[in-house]
Amino acid sequence: QEFTAMTPPDDLGPAVTPNDLDAFWVPFTPNAEFKQRPRLVARAEGMHYYTPEGRAVLDATAGLWCANAGHCRKPIVEAIQKAAAELDFAPSFQFSHPKAFELASRIAALAPGDLNHVFFGNSGSEADDTALKIALAYHRARGEGSRTRLIGRERAYHGVGFGGISVGGMVLNRKWFSGAMLPGVDHLPHTYSREHQAFTTGQPEWGAHLADDLERMIALHDASTIAAVIVEPMAGSTGVLPPPKGYLERLREITSKHGILLIFDEVITGYGRLGASFAAERFGVVPDMITFAKGVTSASVPLSGVIATEDIYKTFADSVAGADHAIDLFHGYTYSAHPLACAAGLATLDLYRDEGLFERVAGLEAMWADAIMDLKDHPLVEDIRQLGLTAAFDLAPVPGTPARRGFDAMRAGFHDHDIMLRASADTICLSPPLIVSEAEIGEIVARTRKAFDQVA
Ligand code: PMP
Repeated sequence: QEFTAMTPPDDLGPAVTPNDLDAFWVPFTPNAEFKQRPRLVARAEGMHYYTPEGRAVLDATAGLWCANAGHCRKPIVEAIQKAAAELDFAPSFQFSHPKAFELASRIAALAPGDLNHVFFGNSGSEADDTALKIALAYHRARGEGSRTRLIGRERAYHGVGFGGISVGGMVLNRKWFSGAMLPGVDHLPHTYSREHQAFTTGQPEWGAHLADDLERMIALHDASTIAAVIVEPMAGSTGVLPPPKGYLERLREITSKHGILLIFDEVITGYGRLGASFAAERFGVVPDMITFAKGVTSASVPLSGVIATEDIYKTFADSVAGADHAIDLFHGYTYSAHPLACAAGLATLDLYRDEGLFERVAGLEAMWADAIMDLKDHPLVEDIRQLGLTAAFDLAPVPGTPARRGFDAMRAGFHDHDIMLRASADTICLSPPLIVSEAEIGEIVARTRKAFDQVA
């Protein structure tokens, strides 16, 4: 690796003064509190962030589950620099540029089955809304326009577009917008049960039967009204919920039987997080569409997309012949397949391949699972879950307050123990860059323990 961990870069740039903090509205953050004691990073390299004061912070979260190759990797940085000087932008509708095709082919080659066609967006939210729209338009193009119902799952996160929050299952992301959502959406039950799954690493044995709820929905609404089922193969940001053994297989079986499209949201699980290109490959279950983002460029430039099957793509491509419309899919973003993002994506996929990072995760997984279970006896820890290079710790709630133990631990980690943790209510999630060493895994566990000690 071309970087030296723990060497603070010389030039950390200008510091942020308190006056500068006012204008920027920080997403998903209590702004007033944050601005009293902001958590800022100014540089990053490999496994570390550096604060404006030059303090090295070990990144146990790959940013937001996205910097899978580690930060500021030289081949990616250079590819972006070169691309920026060569072609800043190509119109994305009716025109394109060579790297878009090259990257789509590379991604299709990584995807299982006949998931051969890639539609690009910029964010996970865009990819998810795109997949839902493709599902509706696909059925309509086939003369089944009655299939409009979408089915998501409780405790799912599919981004923040109106499609994503509608099929998503996070109550706070829904109720704050006064219930203004897509009509005709249902939710499968989530797959977590502390009673049956506590302190399980990998896939739990219990819970495959929860997929059968889909049969109940089909019986209630009729298959002819249902367009698609969307799930994260492993729910990530709602606290790492690995799929019970047999669960995804059962969803595939039921959706196939009833002509319903199955969409895997692999925004987190894609690009090596579970030790394979995609979770679909790890679990041997091939959906009709995969959405991806984050790891495709190792977070260096925003890029996302939908990978669709031969059948879906062909349905659209063929729909123009003899029709009253001249475009196959009425959808796209100005920055779909942006040249800088495509260059970053190509360099990132090269790096994953050349350093064997997906295989590396598969090799590390048992050691990682052992290491995180070390925190099992911590008085604050009520459950631990793990799959691939992820982990979640449920912390005992503070009685009578909104869930905040995870946020407390995250703050303690950053300010006092030089570790970046990811908090979701009372849960702490870990998802380090795939380059993490065994020594760094030991360090992550030790510092996480210190953060938990401080909160306890
Ligand atoms: N889907 C999943 C599974 C995610 O985890 C996320 C982001 N964490 C999204 C979609 C949304 O991605 P973005 O924030 O890039 O819109």
